Amino acid sequence: MTLSADRPGAVLGGFVLAIVVLGGSGATAPARAARREAPPLVRLRDVCPGVRVDLRYATADNVFRRRLYDGTIAMLRAPVARRLARVQDHLARQGLGLKVWDAYRPYHVQGIMWRIRPGTRYLSNPRRGSKHNRGAAVDVTLVDRAGAELPMPTPFDEFSPRAHRGATRGVSPERQKNSRTLEAAMRAEGFFPNRWEWWHFTASDWQRYPLADVPVPRE
Ligand SMILES: [Zn+2]
Repeated sequence: MTLSADRPGAVLGGFVLAIVVLGGSGATAPARAARREAPPLVRLRDVCPGVRVDLRYATADNVFRRRLYDGTIAMLRAPVARRLARVQDHLARQGLGLKVWDAYRPYHVQGIMWRIRPGTRYLSNPRRGSKHNRGAAVDVTLVDRAGAELPMPTPFDEFSPRAHRGATRGVSPERQKNSRTLEAAMRAEGFFPNRWEWWHFTASDWQRYPLADVPVPRE
């Protein structure tokens, strides 16, 4: 199943991109074409069944202490999902794997988060949207073959200095090493890390993908 009904903001994103790419000539028609050609959101498990999924914002077990969307299916733009599949394959050869805590997140959810925690450096301002709203970012951790999470610097969404990339204070050498293993595996497939959150990675070509506000599907 694919979802491609992007919200109006996506048109603006495509318009700006089209002007840059095409030098401003006839931008409106190319903008429409760019939007039509945006790769679809796909179910991650269809592309990469080995990745474990535990969407924390589909439950109240998250830093906001409330469920932020109803769906339980992790979605990403198709090329981003294929990248993540290659990360999973690479890790599997080491007896490891990925567990996804958040992937595509509907645009309107960014506004809900912002109202709960306005101005925090850990959230993207809803005026420009999050890379998650484009289906181009993932929150992930490492698991072993049995699916048990490896020790990492902090739990998911602990907004503290220990969660910052490369943090050493209060973080055991084993946890630092596991975080570096995750980062190296993600970087190798074109995901770049976030400075403030060890679990967050963005696809390097995120600008290809417009903001979207379709629901997260349920099982
Ligand atoms: Zn994230």
